[in-house]
Amino acid sequence: MAHAILAFMKSVWTRDSGAGTEAHLARSPVASFPCVHKISLPTPWEGRCVEAYLIDSQPLTLIDAGVKTPESRAALSSALEALGHGVDEIERVVVSHYHRDHVGQVQSLRDAGVSLEVWAHENAVAMVENFSVERIEDLDGTAALFLEFGAPDDLLERVNAHRREHQQNEPVLCEPTRVDHALRDGDTIPFKDFELKVIHAPGHTAGHVLLHQPDSGVLFTGDHIMNGAVPNTENYYLDGLADPRDPLRRRPRFKGLLLYRQSLRTLLRQSFETVLPGYGEVIRAPNRAIHRALLFYDVRIQRIERSLRSVTALGQAVTAYELWRALFPNDDPLTEMRTKLLMVIGALDVLEDAGDCVTSRRPDGVLVHSHSLVR
Ligand SMILES: [Zn+2]
Repeated sequence: MAHAILAFMKSVWTRDSGAGTEAHLARSPVASFPCVHKISLPTPWEGRCVEAYLIDSQPLTLIDAGVKTPESRAALSSALEALGHGVDEIERVVVSHYHRDHVGQVQSLRDAGVSLEVWAHENAVAMVENFSVERIEDLDGTAALFLEFGAPDDLLERVNAHRREHQQNEPVLCEPTRVDHALRDGDTIPFKDFELKVIHAPGHTAGHVLLHQPDSGVLFTGDHIMNGAVPNTENYYLDGLADPRDPLRRRPRFKGLLLYRQSLRTLLRQSFETVLPGYGEVIRAPNRAIHRALLFYDVRIQRIERSLRSVTALGQAVTAYELWRALFPNDDPLTEMRTKLLMVIGALDVLEDAGDCVTSRRPDGVLVHSHSLVR
């Protein structure tokens, strides 16, 4: 989805959607794992394609399924046909995460009579089964979070009114669908002659999975690692009471950026030959791509740390909202605040975890931050 990707570094995957089947199909892009085929499915977003992968084995399995549009369905059908299959032969769809560019077509395939199973991480099941744009954007929940981090009430009302107006006019790109099998870290997904190992990689979403085929060293990464882009990371309140050990009595939160960086670092300790990403071309140097994603956020976290250090040196403390305004003065709050302010809050989580940020609560309830100046 448009707001799910923080930055595209280059537009390497823009394709002409009228270029025919072969433009959407890369047969056996990995020589050591020849039964995998890459299928590029068009999205409504600036000509970008999301990458799905057909595993031509038993059961016939699709990894991710594109958005629900006629163009995406036509690309899927023609690619499968070129590989000697009909869409009705798909037996299983494993979704990397719940976003609509990965789950979108599944229910319409079922509605067309395809008898397929859906496998997804246990943390993604509720979102896949109850999918709606309103639910995933959770405007009220995000407004409550932003209010605690210093955004003005009236601005939040305008941002949400603007977004609600647009939500009503957007095409339905994904429908809720049943999950038949909930996955956990370390699970295996069996095929006739091999298996895929599930790696839970939270950050972009809470229930994102990577799929590893150890014999070939192939890793399917969805939006966790893309070629030429980095994902945003979620940040939202979790159910549950405030931690009684926290003097600020903060509500528990899903801290996606903290988890995303940890997930990436864990991957660096393993060895993969090839990454098959959710966007962009096949990645033949996985560690370089992982370092690039880490660096992308390191640069931004360091900028935020420097800002925090300078205001602290002046004897002040700042809100996350003020940091966003100072760092991105040209952003339009109506369309750009959400993604960037979530990133700033994520960066403050990282700095606090590292002992570099001290948070306190103002009498009006808003959280303010300063640098610990320890290092
Ligand atoms: Zn995504």
